[in-house]
Amino acid sequence: MSESKDFLRTIVEADLKSGKYKEIVTRFPPEPNGFPHIGHAKSIFINFGIASDYNGFCNLRMDDTNPTTEDTKYVEALKDAIKWLGFEWHGKVHFTSDYFPKLYDYAIQLIKMGKAYVDSINEEEMREYRGTVTEPGKRSKYAERSVEENLNLFERMKNGEFKDGEHVLRAKIDMSAANMKMRDPLLYRIRHAHHFRAGDTWSIYPMYDFAHCLSDYIEGITHSLCTLEFENNRDIYDWVLDTLELKPPRPYQYEFARLNINYTVMSKRKLLELVEGNYVSGWDDPRLPTIAGYRRRGYTPESILTFCDQIGIAKANSVVDVAQLEFCIRDDLNTKVPRVMCVLDPLKVSIENYEGSEEIDASYYPDDVPKEGSRKVPFSREVYIERDDFTENPPKGYFRLTPEQPVRLKHGFIISCKEVVKDDNGNITEIKAEYYPDSRSGSDRSGIKVKSAIQWVSAKEAKTVEVRLYDRLFSAEIPEGVEDINPDSLKIIKNALIEPAVITDKPDERFQFERQGYFYADPVDYTDEAPVFNKIVGLKDSWGKKKKAPKSEPKRQAKKEQIDGEVVPMSEAQQTLFDKYTGELGLNSEVANTLARDEKLSSFYHDALSVNNSPVTIANMVANDVARELKESQTDVLKFDAEQIAALVKMVDDETISSKMAKQVFEEMAKSGTHPKKIVADKGLVQISDPAKISPVIDEVMAKNPDNVAKFKAGNTKLLGFFVGQVLKATGGKANPKVVNALVAEKLK
Ligand code: ATP
Ligand code: MG
Repeated sequence: MSESKDFLRTIVEADLKSGKYKEIVTRFPPEPNGFPHIGHAKSIFINFGIASDYNGFCNLRMDDTNPTTEDTKYVEALKDAIKWLGFEWHGKVHFTSDYFPKLYDYAIQLIKMGKAYVDSINEEEMREYRGTVTEPGKRSKYAERSVEENLNLFERMKNGEFKDGEHVLRAKIDMSAANMKMRDPLLYRIRHAHHFRAGDTWSIYPMYDFAHCLSDYIEGITHSLCTLEFENNRDIYDWVLDTLELKPPRPYQYEFARLNINYTVMSKRKLLELVEGNYVSGWDDPRLPTIAGYRRRGYTPESILTFCDQIGIAKANSVVDVAQLEFCIRDDLNTKVPRVMCVLDPLKVSIENYEGSEEIDASYYPDDVPKEGSRKVPFSREVYIERDDFTENPPKGYFRLTPEQPVRLKHGFIISCKEVVKDDNGNITEIKAEYYPDSRSGSDRSGIKVKSAIQWVSAKEAKTVEVRLYDRLFSAEIPEGVEDINPDSLKIIKNALIEPAVITDKPDERFQFERQGYFYADPVDYTDEAPVFNKIVGLKDSWGKKKKAPKSEPKRQAKKEQIDGEVVPMSEAQQTLFDKYTGELGLNSEVANTLARDEKLSSFYHDALSVNNSPVTIANMVANDVARELKESQTDVLKFDAEQIAALVKMVDDETISSKMAKQVFEEMAKSGTHPKKIVADKGLVQISDPAKISPVIDEVMAKNPDNVAKFKAGNTKLLGFFVGQVLKATGGKANPKVVNALVAEKLK
């Protein structure tokens, strides 16, 4: 696993050493209300990974306390995902609902201790009484109820005698606590709903804050690992376990950063919207970031685990570049899968000086892949090549077939163009060509120079296949929702032509189609009669900027005949830089690769770093924004310098401006050359972090959206993002998202 220890493993080791626990027990606690996604994979990787590293075990627990949204189909999807990723949970699958009777007893115990009471004020009063960040709250008059009265009411709540919302059970903690979560949090609410496992037994359901810590305790969990948004809930976690004076050892909660990926939505609410709105074909649509989606697309479990390992475990939220995940799958398949030839947009080539037919023996793997295997590729007078591998008007650097320039048919012969046949509309319908008999690949004595080798198939033997070209589902870097869907995220090609061995020999399920990318035989729709292949990923990052040297998997060998999309190896100096970037400076391999391969970018990076030691943020800006500017500027001269980038990054790091705002400042700086500090001052872009200024904006947004406020209060807490988004919009993106998040969450309580 990772070489350097993360903060969670450091804690776990210390706890083992001090004898606090004899054995490490973690758990993965999903709510079965959606298919698991790559964010869950991170949590799975951490929980199962830590347990196995320290010879402990990890439970799988369905956190099923919300009867209205949960379903067994999600339970099955979660189990499938964990198994597919290669992990095994300890014993049977646990369900929080199995603990409902025990949890109820614990609640009774708290009531008897005078530490919990039935409250009957309405939601509006409850919010009012809670106070604000700056003012203490006050306690409801019902907090004075006697233990007997509380016991009686709570039992009747359980028996279904009251309507939803009529009463709640609250912990009696402190209405003036600085941590607002501690202001007498709810422990139980009334819900007359059918539960997919517990049936209609219960009319009350425990809240997360009550159920989670106790479920952990009941299962003997030692380290309860969750994401950062639960930081403030930790006090309740501790309060419940301590107040009940449970027999030690007890679990403790630790928080790590959630995984966010650009060009991707990960909220279950948004994923559900995509599925239910038929924007995608189902939970396993290959464009979704669900485990089922990656699996159907052709991702390997190994590539996802490598990704989870690379992103590491941090305590601060950030957005990971999706290119890093794409890099992982490319890197994994590169050493594993057979190379074959498929033509997506066929153009007929008649080789006029060839008679008969033959079979060419061709290896499935290039020299640097340590695997063996070959197939026979039929060759005949009539072949198909890719339409865009021929042009009459070649731009500079076009290495393929032209009327003047010969090309090699990969594994086969060199051909040259003799005549271009067109239809009445001027479209090219056929190339008449000539081949060179002594140019056979491997024993070429022709002396003819070609600049590339292209894929092709023999017309008679080729098989027709459907190819589904998947691309990123969203075209916006930080997608809001369906309005940002990439219209080109799926292109279906019905009549692609593939060499026959792929279908008849089936050497694998995943392939590299030479020069096209990596493909996977669709596990649902593929049949031998009507084969279907999904594009997993291209050979290089087509979303990134064009580089002088193509982006690549490091440490590969150069090829004698360079084919588009294959890899240029790094020089020794570049490799040294790359190692330093990924090691000492902690950059991800994609960014490190971009910087190390480009002298201009790396020296710019070092200059900026000498002014402001913020290696990751500066690297991202240089590898993305600065690189794009350089590419777009005709003269290779930039209007800004490294000091300006350093200053811009500093303003992001110290939260003077948001990272979103930084993009705008960058654009302006790149255009005019103005110093970023001046741009920020002149345009008044300084981030607003003062709650007193943000608060009225939130009130206004809430007043304008009474329906959503009501929905939120009725339990649709997923609308939180909506409100935060609206507030950010209303402040022109100037409000500090962290502060907005906290304030909105408080106000909506
Ligand atoms: P919600 O609570 O909105 O339904 P969730 O993302 O919290 O969604 P859960 O099913 O409760 O979903 O999550 C199960 C576990 O996976 C939790 O421990 C959670 O912290 C973790 N998890 C969920 N999303 C991510 C993510 N993006 N990155 C890391 N861990 C995640
Ligand atoms: Mg959750």
